[in-house]
Amino acid sequence: MGPPGAGKGTQARVAADHFGIPAISTGDIFRTNVSNGTPLGKKAQEYMDQGEYVPDEVTNLMVRNRIDEPDAEPGFLLDGYPRTLAQVEELDGMIKYTGHALDAVVVLTVDADEIVAQLLRRAQVEGRADDTEEVIRRRQEVYGEQTEPLVEVYRTRGIVHEIDGMGAVEEVTKRIFDALDVVPQS
Ligand code: AMP
Repeated sequence: MGPPGAGKGTQARVAADHFGIPAISTGDIFRTNVSNGTPLGKKAQEYMDQGEYVPDEVTNLMVRNRIDEPDAEPGFLLDGYPRTLAQVEELDGMIKYTGHALDAVVVLTVDADEIVAQLLRRAQVEGRADDTEEVIRRRQEVYGEQTEPLVEVYRTRGIVHEIDGMGAVEEVTKRIFDALDVVPQS
């Protein structure tokens, strides 16, 4: 977990590689569907373009189908899911059915102002029309309102690892590995 722009996607791929499990990114799956013009992509795009979350029913079903695939059988790392309380409950149900447990939740902590400034610079340089200042700010707001409260939910379960997400990618990766390498796997 972590606000948009914290580097979740990059770190998720490296960490999943390290543990030999797939990184499942709901944002990536939505983006692929948008590029391919699928019905799911068309539905998701309306929300993504505005910085809002795609409805839980759509997102939950997509994750359920994805973790049913054979490569996720030994375990998986979720990037960008769950993001709402309803998704937390749904994920609990899905994991129970796999016979595993949720071993760890990594929260990347970052300087929000710095991250927003970086995202704005990137949007300008790359001329990304979809990343307007309004949408970038809305994404941060939605994270604060709907997703940040989930950290407390997982903290009471004793599985949260708060990691300083500022600095070079490799430094952040090292912090994540140091925390996760000692977590027993279910
Ligand atoms: P991300 O790349 O993870 O920031 O996701 C990009 C966009 O996809 C988000 O701004 C949402 O519109 C949508 N999205 C990704 N994951 C979820 C989720 N778990 N629940 C709802 N919407 C999501």
